Amino acid sequence: MMSTASPYNTLIDSLSPDDRDALLAASVPFDFKVGQIFLEPGDTVEHVYFVYKGIISAVAAMADGRTVEVFMVGREGVTHPSAATAGAITSYSRQAAQADGQCRRIEVSRLRALADEREGLRAVVSAYASNLQAELEQSGACNALHRAEQRFAKWLLRCHDRIDGDTLNLTQEYLASMLGSQRTTVNEAAQGLQKTGAITYSRGKITIVDRAALERTACECYNGRTREPALTA
Ligand SMILES: [Zn+2]
Repeated sequence: MMSTASPYNTLIDSLSPDDRDALLAASVPFDFKVGQIFLEPGDTVEHVYFVYKGIISAVAAMADGRTVEVFMVGREGVTHPSAATAGAITSYSRQAAQADGQCRRIEVSRLRALADEREGLRAVVSAYASNLQAELEQSGACNALHRAEQRFAKWLLRCHDRIDGDTLNLTQEYLASMLGSQRTTVNEAAQGLQKTGAITYSRGKITIVDRAALERTACECYNGRTREPALTA
């Protein structure tokens, strides 16, 4: 589990005090609820969110209505890190809260202005953007090559790294929409993990009982812990 001692997020914590104060002064605290939608595909990105509690997921939606999660952001990151240096950004995916949480919200134009004048901030956010890019490349391969049960175990571990406690409130339908799988496939994967004692699963509630067992089941794409930004500042 990640440390819950910090009230902020890993990126904010790794800034110099001066850069941190500037970012906090330019942003506002923002609470969100599970299911809350931040962006739909095609929307212009006007704010980014430095998460310090909860999870925001980016979900790709296909024309036939099927969906799959493409990445998640928790305490380790910020939504749309490329906003710090890019021009106007359009969201490719739907971004929605997967667990209740808190974050700092900042307007893209203010983040860009801050990053322009503060090299340390720019470096921290750029390093995270590079990590996220690497994660996306890995998950492209994972979705094509790894079995549903392996991907399910990986996904649960990644959620577990970002929440307080061991329980996730998730319906089978929701799980299927995250994993890009059929409900029956998700059901089989959940039954399999329950049989090994890794999780208990009932009425839309998953409790992680044996994390080590989940780690043995997960594919190689689970990196063991949430990526920390490289401190190049
Ligand atoms: Zn994988």
